[in-house]
Parts: sequence; structure tokens; C-alpha cells
Amino acid sequence: MKEESKIFKKEEILSTEYLPELLPHRENQIKRLANNILPASEGRNPQNTFIFGPPGIGKTASARFVFREFEDYSEVRTIYINCWDYRTLIAILTKIVIEFGSFAHRKGVSKDESLERTIEILNKKNMGVVACLDEVDQLILNDKESLYNLLRMNQYVKIPFGLIFISNDPHVFSKVDPRIKSSLNIEEIEFRPYSLEEMKDILKERVNLGIWTVEEGVVLLCANHAIQNGGDVRIGLDCLMKAGRIAESKNCDKIKIEHVKEILGSVKPVKPKILRERLNEDEKVILNIVDKKRQIFSGDLYKEYSKTAKMPVSDRRFRDFLNHLAKLNLIKVEERRRGVRGKKRMVTKI
Ligand code: ADP
Ligand code: MG
Repeated sequence: MKEESKIFKKEEILSTEYLPELLPHRENQIKRLANNILPASEGRNPQNTFIFGPPGIGKTASARFVFREFEDYSEVRTIYINCWDYRTLIAILTKIVIEFGSFAHRKGVSKDESLERTIEILNKKNMGVVACLDEVDQLILNDKESLYNLLRMNQYVKIPFGLIFISNDPHVFSKVDPRIKSSLNIEEIEFRPYSLEEMKDILKERVNLGIWTVEEGVVLLCANHAIQNGGDVRIGLDCLMKAGRIAESKNCDKIKIEHVKEILGSVKPVKPKILRERLNEDEKVILNIVDKKRQIFSGDLYKEYSKTAKMPVSDRRFRDFLNHLAKLNLIKVEERRRGVRGKKRMVTKI
């Protein structure tokens, strides 16, 4: 049996994946979102909603929290989709269809066919459905048209059907088409960064549940580090976890200020790392090659990539991946003239 920790009561409670039973200081936003979805449980259309605000301040957690409540206490079906993993309309529709237990072809179907089939399947259901498209900027980057298709879908679905969009970028819709937000009839819920006091409350709650004892000032120090580094709660959780590990390794029976001080320097804003982790395998291979070479023509890059990748994709898909990496500002792609044979694309590390 695993030896019991003198520090961690329940380590998983400090993990960023854990969805707490309570989300302090998000009561208002949670109530608004729940109110927007509520009509779906009464046979009426829910209010489409756009949630925005900087990273790490409970947008995803609040949406998942509200979804969990509706799943547990109502007939409304909720579908959470992260657009990092489903970056095209067809991928999203396929996911919805599969969630409803139906079979879906993903390859070789047109958008229209996919839309029609999804609408047909939804219309056979006798319940409200709400889908959350988290990190929707990834979908828009990759498949701008998808918004117009979602709009069409909204009009043709006969059951109560609603969409919740989430993004760090408040202007993600206006960048595509300033009218799209009103056409989709979206209400906005802004998430503002937490204050130091709020961050402290949030971390304290997780500490109470997950850790046996901490020295006075530990939570404040972690909260402060999180606020100083952009206000992402994950930074505070990371500090607690790492300090806890140090305390364990020193065989202490509580987390002390000195343990936190030891790890503060190693806990940095999470975003750049996360960005890379979320790339698909092919994009990771491509990025690794660009990192190594610093600058390379896209043709040569494709050759290198084909040698390294387990199952290399077609040249066309490869170009999609390059564009995606460029839009994420991880690489730069420029047209260059090369000899008499015309233009070539030069890929540079950023
Ligand atoms: P984002 O706004 O980027 O979607 P998340 O919802 O993923 O941020 O939150 C990041 C982490 O912080 C998650 O582990 C989440 O559980 C936690 N968190 C954020 N806000 C709260 C809160 N009010 N109470 C408890 N945990 C929170
Ligand atoms: Mg999120």
C-alpha cells in the first residue's frame, strides 16, 4: 500500500484538472450562466453565451461546474468541447453526433452533409441540448466559416439548443465579422481577474481540502506569486504542490514559508508551455525541427518531417499545420523568391 503522506490529505484536489465542489468568487457568473441555460430544461431555447477573460481565472471551471449541475439535476444534455482538440466544424459535429450514440463518418463528408445529419439526429431527441465550445478562437483560426454554419444550425434545430463559447480574447468574434455576435444572439459574461484577497480565498479552500497543515503565510505567498505572474490560479496551485513536495522530501509535517520560497523561482506563467503541449503530434514534430534548424524552406521542412513522423500527413495537411503554428505565433512563414522557379516559403523560429 502507498505510504500516507504527512503533507497531502488528498493530492488530487490541488491538481488543475480537479473540478472543485465550490468556486469562490464566481457565484455571480455561475448564476448568470445557469440562468441562460435554464430555459432548455423547460422546452424553450437557451440563451447563447460568450464567456471571456484572461487565462486561469475559472472560465472553464465555471462552465464545467454549471454543466455538471445540469447533467445531475435536469434533463438537459450538455456537451463540453475543447476546440484545441476539435478544430473544424466537421470535427465538432462528429463529436456531438457520437456523444448521442450515433455513428458518424468524419472523412469524405461535406460540411452541409455533416450539418444536416447532426440536425436530423438532434431533432429526434426529446430534450434540450447545450454545447460548450471552449477556446473557440482555435476553431475560428482554423475554420472561420464554422460560425456561419453554427448559425444555420441554430436556426434549423427544433429542440431547445444552445451554445456557450469561451475565449481569452474578447474580440474573437468581431475579428471575423462584427455582426456575427448579434446574429448568433450571444450574451456576454466577462470574467475579471481575481484580486489578491480572492486568490487567497480560492487557494485556502483547496488547501483545507487537500493539505494537512501549512504554516501561516504560505497561502498568501503562493497567492501573491500567482497575482504577480498574471493572475492564473494554476500558478498558485502549482506553488502549493511543489512546496508540498519539498516539505515531504524534508520529512516535515507541514508546508513552511521556506519551502515555498525555495520553489517560487521555478513556477512561471503556464501559458507558453501549455500552448506547446496542446499541439498535435505532427505539429510538435514540425516545431521541433524548426527549433533545431532555426530557419528552413518549407519544402525541406516537409522532407525532414516526413522522415521523423510516424505517419506523415499529406502536403496539404502539412501546410494547414504550418499555418496554424504561424497563427499561434510559434513560427514565422514568409514568401521568398528563390531563383527563376518562383516563390518559396521560408519558415523561421520565433
Ligand atoms: P480558464 O479561465 O483559463 O478557463 P480554469 O477554469 O481552467 O481557467 O481555471 C484554472 C484553474 O484554477 C483550475 O484548476 C480551476 O479549478 C482553478 N480555479 C479557477 N477559479 C477558481 C475558483 N474560483 N475556485 C476554485 N478553483 C478555481
Ligand atoms: Mg479554460
